[in-house]
Amino acid sequence: MRPRWEHAVVTGGAGFVGSHLCTALMDQGTAVTCVDDFCTGSRENLSHLEGRAGFTLVRADVSKPFEVRRPADLVLHFASPASPADYLRLPLHTLETGSAGTRNALALARSWGARFVLASTSEVYGDPRQHPQNESYWGNVNPVGPRSVYDEAKRFAEALTTAEFTSHGTDTAIVRLFNTYGPRMRGHDGRAVPTFICQALAGEPLTVTGDGRQTRSLAYVDDTVRGILAMAASDLRGPVNLGNPDEITMLGLARLVIELTGSRSEVRFIDRPTDDPAVRCPDITLARGKLQWEPEVPAREGLDRVIRWFRERRPA
Ligand code: NAD
Repeated sequence: MRPRWEHAVVTGGAGFVGSHLCTALMDQGTAVTCVDDFCTGSRENLSHLEGRAGFTLVRADVSKPFEVRRPADLVLHFASPASPADYLRLPLHTLETGSAGTRNALALARSWGARFVLASTSEVYGDPRQHPQNESYWGNVNPVGPRSVYDEAKRFAEALTTAEFTSHGTDTAIVRLFNTYGPRMRGHDGRAVPTFICQALAGEPLTVTGDGRQTRSLAYVDDTVRGILAMAASDLRGPVNLGNPDEITMLGLARLVIELTGSRSEVRFIDRPTDDPAVRCPDITLARGKLQWEPEVPAREGLDRVIRWFRERRPA
């Protein structure tokens, strides 16, 4: 069977989600060029693909002009620092990547007549006043708060992607990803799942911010990747939410990780970061109806897989 796409460009393909996307595309017979500057990703995330026929790795910062020699029929724009620890460390780079980087990735898609998919985020909803969040909610973002470098970069990237379609007719799509977790997250990237798992495996206290009652909804990476590829294969423009509507409090997550790891760790409460959203839960009516997509991996099963992955990487 012919693959749906001959050749896909994945910006940010050396990162957590991007590396799973590259793998899924290669496994279905699509050649992949990953473009990444390794600011938060790593070559190691792609070691299983390097040397495989059809896989090319280009080291480049997408916010500067860059070249991909072979035309592609799909561009997945995933380059961007994504964890708060990373974008607070790289504020200007994050804004450049969302703005100039998105413009450059869109220009490539336009020049080839390729389908373009922007990885946007639930962070465009900020600290939401509507719960759960559907795609028509405009959000509540502090434009000068510390998180704005990420939230506003993504909001601008959405605006740019929309203008690209209306001005040039480029075949664009926008997905808004909610928190995704899985193997290849970095243990100390500041996101709750890898942080709690590494703390539990090390027998250290699990650091829960605030009173732990704030909620997130966690999707396992295989579910997220399946949703992204369903969006790429559709003719929808979006934005479309992709996330798991099973909401969990941060304290509940910490307790679940302690239970699943069998750790003797305790919970320690620490200060909550500025503008940290109180709730986060996707309304996925659109994805269910138009993409026939919904998450399949339950939290216990997904967390078990990630715990196993981190265990295997712990020094003996
Ligand atoms: P990640 O940090 O693991 O991966 C991001 C990748 O982009 C890294 O490999 C990094 O080196 C690369 N990158 C960053 N800036 C670049 C630039 N200017 N040029 C080239 N490469 C660059 O993060 P992730 O969790 O895999 O997120 C991937 C994408 O999905 C991001 O766009 C993020 O905003 C989006 N997203 C992720 C989540 C999630 O829960 N993981 C949720 C919402 C949105």
